[in-house]
Amino acid sequence: MTKPTQIDHIAIATPSIDESLKFYENALGLQAAHIEELPDRGIRVAMLPIGEATIELIEPLHDKSEVSGFLAKRGGGIHHIALRTPDVDENVSQLKDKGVRLTADEAAPGAHDCRVAFIHPKASGGVLLELTTPPERSE
Ligand code: ZN
Repeated sequence: MTKPTQIDHIAIATPSIDESLKFYENALGLQAAHIEELPDRGIRVAMLPIGEATIELIEPLHDKSEVSGFLAKRGGGIHHIALRTPDVDENVSQLKDKGVRLTADEAAPGAHDCRVAFIHPKASGGVLLELTTPPERSE
């Protein structure tokens, strides 16, 4: 059975990455390794490495982005937790066999050429869980 091996990133939705970086960089001393726009998902993300994991700040590019509803409802906060796994496609098929609800039927390309899938919060106690396989480990 394929299983996740570590926390890959914790994603925090924010109305403004620039505003959030004042805290994460200036006050906390972390540093954004890079900032990337993902127009097809309607978001801009900043990656702040911390040990083996990353804090991912997500900002909406417009009001139909994948975090807009979350921000409107909660005004920011932890959006999802991502678990790194050696083979997300295998996880998806195992989870479907077990009747676990996913947000899509198949894994899809994510940031940094990772392959990702999301487990619905209703299946995981209220937390949106991402499963992610980095490109170098996808074979
Ligand atoms: Zn993520």
